[in-house]
Amino acid sequence: MIEATTQSRPSKTKTISQKMWTTEEALALFDLSFPELLYQAQTVHRTFFPDATMQLSTLLNIKLGGCPEDCHYCPQAARYNTGIKAEKLMGVASVREQAEAAKAAGATRFCMGAAWRELKDRDIPAVAAMVQEIKALGMESCLTLGMLTESQAQALKEAGLDYYNHNIDTSREFYEKIITTRTFDDRLQTLQHVRDAGMKVCCGGIIGMGEAVHDRANMLVVLANMEPAIESVPINHLAPVEGTPLGDTPAMDPFDFVRTIAVARIMMPTARVRLSAGRVKMSDELQALCFLAGANSIFYGREVLLTTANPEVKRDQDLLQRLGIEVEGAGGICL
Ligand code: SF4
Repeated sequence: MIEATTQSRPSKTKTISQKMWTTEEALALFDLSFPELLYQAQTVHRTFFPDATMQLSTLLNIKLGGCPEDCHYCPQAARYNTGIKAEKLMGVASVREQAEAAKAAGATRFCMGAAWRELKDRDIPAVAAMVQEIKALGMESCLTLGMLTESQAQALKEAGLDYYNHNIDTSREFYEKIITTRTFDDRLQTLQHVRDAGMKVCCGGIIGMGEAVHDRANMLVVLANMEPAIESVPINHLAPVEGTPLGDTPAMDPFDFVRTIAVARIMMPTARVRLSAGRVKMSDELQALCFLAGANSIFYGREVLLTTANPEVKRDQDLLQRLGIEVEGAGGICL
């Protein structure tokens, strides 16, 4: 069963059975006319999030570059010549400073990412201390550190971690065209460890890597059928980076990106659907369409995500104000 509650005002609680989706059903949503799809997505959105608030997360790269993996989109992979120099894990005091600034700017969740294949046991005390600093500020915490073992997931839970992010990136079928150094099942296993430890799951993918609509549908089916229902779904628009294998990927039709957001909203009604990488290149109008399609979370507060650009704080504040979208946890006000 899924329990959906509003995030900013306790005005409505709705309990439904989690629907299991098939590829055919997902493809049928992609086949709807654009207005019909947006109408259905907005209807679902307003049923499960009546306040239609925006959740603001800030993402900090705590360990830049030098990653041994071969994710074809990623400038932090050591094997690609992207000009990124590997750095050591950031200190706990610097992380706290950044989190304080994010909180002051209005973010409610602080996410930290490290360019690692997997977490090493020796790094657990440092990342656990970071999580404790975030929690002491009254913010939600999220980490993305690569693959986890069962006991590592347990250690992060004990440190107070709320969310663990580990994206499946794309469909099982398209996956090996994008990553060859670990399997789709490796990803699912880490997600299972996160669940077993009692943490919330943040998991999504990247659109515009040359995948077919069928792949987008299959990726969303895997995400939507996770039990219990997934809490946070980042939908990234590929930001092609020179020097990576996907550096020359042609731009996709923006309406196809909006469609993917809308289908994700319908299939995962209780999740925060996060408009993630690639937002800086989107017009205000395209972002507004994504919000109308059901995106209700953004990365905010820093002008870089892990390595690629993110909109300036002022631009985001202006956009949310112009659209009259309230911010989660801001007492019903626009920023
Ligand atoms: S996406 Fe993550 S795992 Fe893949 S190369 Fe980049 S840092 Fe490494």
